[in-house]
Amino acid sequence: MVAVMWFRRDLRIEDNTALKHAFEESKNLILLFHVNPEQFLNPASKNEAAFFKSVEVFQKELQKQGATLQLVYGSLESCFVKLKKEIPDWTDLYVNRDEQGYGLERDRVAGKLLKELGVKAHAYHDHYLHSAQEIKTNSQTHYKVFTPYYLKWIERPKPSVVQVAFDREKLMNPALFLEDNKKFEDHLHKNISITNHPVGSAAAKQTLNSFIENKLFKYEEARDFPLEDATSHLSHHIRTGEISIRTIFERVNQAPPSKGKDTFIKELAWRDFYNMVYVTHPNQKKEPVNPTFRFVNWENNEQAFNSWKEGKTGFPIVDAAMRQLKELGWMHNRLRMITASFLTKDLLIDWRWGERYFQEQLIDYDAASNIGGWQWAASTGTDGVPYFRIFNPTTQSERFDKEGLFIKKYVPELRGIENKKIHDPSQLTAVEQDKFGVIIGKDYPKPIVDHKMRRKAAIEAYEESKAIY
Ligand code: FAD
Repeated sequence: MVAVMWFRRDLRIEDNTALKHAFEESKNLILLFHVNPEQFLNPASKNEAAFFKSVEVFQKELQKQGATLQLVYGSLESCFVKLKKEIPDWTDLYVNRDEQGYGLERDRVAGKLLKELGVKAHAYHDHYLHSAQEIKTNSQTHYKVFTPYYLKWIERPKPSVVQVAFDREKLMNPALFLEDNKKFEDHLHKNISITNHPVGSAAAKQTLNSFIENKLFKYEEARDFPLEDATSHLSHHIRTGEISIRTIFERVNQAPPSKGKDTFIKELAWRDFYNMVYVTHPNQKKEPVNPTFRFVNWENNEQAFNSWKEGKTGFPIVDAAMRQLKELGWMHNRLRMITASFLTKDLLIDWRWGERYFQEQLIDYDAASNIGGWQWAASTGTDGVPYFRIFNPTTQSERFDKEGLFIKKYVPELRGIENKKIHDPSQLTAVEQDKFGVIIGKDYPKPIVDHKMRRKAAIEAYEESKAIY
């Protein structure tokens, strides 16, 4: 009797629910990762490059423990059949289950295949502090708005860290699928290189420790200011599962009381909330959660979309943010809100275009949080910002990057400008442009839209949709 532990977005040994059960309940265990070239393999995507780098590092971490992570490459069906052929005694499969999106669909297909192969699946909730079915209203319906959801969420006891008894004796490390390993390596080398972000469980723990020690206590006041860089940067570790959400919660919860600690824990609740929204609105990648705004007449101007992507809109805070995304594969949360609002409201470009671009660029891409964040900004989500509350990019910039130093970090053309004049360079006189060494329209673009006019146009477009609905 052989059991298989199938890793997906839980690339860690510690505090891993399925792995704990796999070790406890089996005598012979194989560790597996499946790569489906039809689903992944977009070499231009930072998201994928970063994810596969994490897989590679995890494989090495396991090697140090005397364990082999078998990489199997191809369609799920062909891989399972291949595995059963190699290991006829394969009887059990252990996984941490997905509740929504691509992962849920894959698990449905896997369930059917496993049945045909006579393999028993053991699936566990592991990715969230509370799964989608755990937090409900008193009448057993799902919440539609975050605040009441959060009030219920915070009252509930949180799951404890899971102890995994890693037992080398139980591991079978046969030399399987050597060709598949080679294909995976080739794929990694084809990918764009993502070298500037730390990867792996050890790095994740270090990031958490350093955040708790240096930033947590001031998280509440500082988290909205991009230059301060006061957030945890745990998102890509959470997305790959290099660290468990229970470990993060437990460590943060043990810290001395502070507003920062409470606010940080609330952010973890947002993550659970968006998972729940995806479970209850499985079509949300394609359709607005709020049907009232299904008929917004998006202008979808390709040229404006490209200016946004390239960070050349003439709105310095938007441009700095989009360039941060391109450079790091990560963007500060306040800036995700500003750039998403700008794309959907100022440019009237469909939020799905922005969601897809973030999917490609973000190393922490998480479908539930990204779609949730985009629908929030576009006012089409369950808990979206009201459609008439539209971020003014210039006042956001004055408020959250007062001295303009974040802008200067990412938009070198504007470095010569006096700090307080940086938020709207189109207002500089010819003499000032000369003095600061930047000619607007030549060295840096004029604003591609007039915010006041576009605000009006956006409100009209949303109201038209409401009227049609
Ligand atoms: P911290 O402030 O340190 O937060 C800690 C953790 O809490 C994060 O790592 C994340 O897991 C969770 N979290 C924080 N804020 C949110 C939130 N608003 N929604 C859900 N979870 C949250 N987050 C992603 O993980 N992946 C995405 O693809 C993603 N896309 C987004 C798109 C838009 C348009 C917006 C507005 C937000 C998006 N977010 C996404 C949420 C948030 O911006 C990131 O989680 C955060 O910036 C990651 O940096 P951090 O780890 O330093 O955050």
